[in-house]
Amino acid sequence: MPKEEYNPYQELLYTLDEAGQKLGLTKDDYKILEKPERELKVSIPIEKDDGKVEVFDGYRVQHCNSRGPYKGGVRYHPDVDIDEIRALAGWMTLKCSLVDIPYGGAKGGIKCDPSELSQTELKKITRRYTTMIEPIIGIDKDIPAPDVNTNAQIMSWIYDTYSMIKGHNIPGIVTGKPHIIEGCLARQGATGRGVMITILNLYKKLKKDLKGATVAIQGFGNVGQVAAQLLKEKGCKVVAVSDVSGGIYKEDGFDVLDLKNFVGSERKRLLEYEDTNVKHISNSELLKLDVDILIPAALENQITEKVAKEIKAKYVIEAANGPTTRKADEILESKGIVVIPDILANAGGVIVSYFEWVQNKESVRWEDSRTNRRLKKLLTKAFDQVWLKYEEQKVSLRMAAYMVALQRIVETKKIRGIFP
Ligand code: GLU
Repeated sequence: MPKEEYNPYQELLYTLDEAGQKLGLTKDDYKILEKPERELKVSIPIEKDDGKVEVFDGYRVQHCNSRGPYKGGVRYHPDVDIDEIRALAGWMTLKCSLVDIPYGGAKGGIKCDPSELSQTELKKITRRYTTMIEPIIGIDKDIPAPDVNTNAQIMSWIYDTYSMIKGHNIPGIVTGKPHIIEGCLARQGATGRGVMITILNLYKKLKKDLKGATVAIQGFGNVGQVAAQLLKEKGCKVVAVSDVSGGIYKEDGFDVLDLKNFVGSERKRLLEYEDTNVKHISNSELLKLDVDILIPAALENQITEKVAKEIKAKYVIEAANGPTTRKADEILESKGIVVIPDILANAGGVIVSYFEWVQNKESVRWEDSRTNRRLKKLLTKAFDQVWLKYEEQKVSLRMAAYMVALQRIVETKKIRGIFP
């Protein structure tokens, strides 16, 4: 679907409204969630390596903070616009509520193509962006984190810039930092680990054996790579993966470690990967493969109506935010394909962000094993609550997740009341 015909924030509002009606709420109960509480648009000028000046558009949208400080990542991507950031901020509000961590929702982004920027340019953009959003972020106000095309290095620059402005170190201003500067080691793999835990929870509910299950993953970045590796360790066969350059397919499954090494830190393109029995496929062919588990782990708006009609996977696990359009969702449901929604499937990242923030506030460090144990506990609790709603209400898992999340936010808002 062309971008101009697709408004992710509008899609979120439709689903939210449906959840509100199913919960028997009145519009007044959740009207407040239909508009983000605060939106900041900034212009980010930098002097490029060649001496020329370029000005980038940046955003920080704070959707709702009833249940705690605003929380959400920052993405660097050429397609970033206000509607996308609004939707991503709204999904953060729902996600944090669903997994019951004391945060609201926010998101930030810069419209840029990081593959065309040098490290120095990226650093300048990040520092200037941080300076521009500094008035509205804070350890108890709004805590950024990584998202598409941002990483621990970028979080370090945000941390450093903010600390320089304030005159002392404030590690809890951002999560997803490197371990050496108070980051939580397990944060980098947390979203991918959460995807694996969610799949384990699903298979357990269905009383099915995960061994030998075939998996296709769209997007082989941080989330896709970790999910692939952990699922392989659980006995799955990862038969297809893709990146922006296209996909690769291997019937008897990839050696995921080898693939990860090939891609490396310089993000080599899968298009260049050659091996015996490996077939090159397109991104849309990957989505239509006859596999057990399909994991969209790239961007939103990937599974459109047209694609949904041809999906053959049994289970779709949304590691990306908003990969399935509303119309596509209806088609998948009518075909009996089980979709684990993004706000549950990819919540592992923000859960471990929360653990990192707690440790920063207390100046303590947990063992990774403790982090991973607690991640599993929170995700499984949310999964069970969603499953119960799904069985009780006979709705989709997405609707069940929205209902659990919305109910909690509405209750919080009711108890607090509207100021003044
Ligand atoms: N960007 C991630 C998400 O979409 C994580 C956000 C965070 O850790 O605050 O959930």
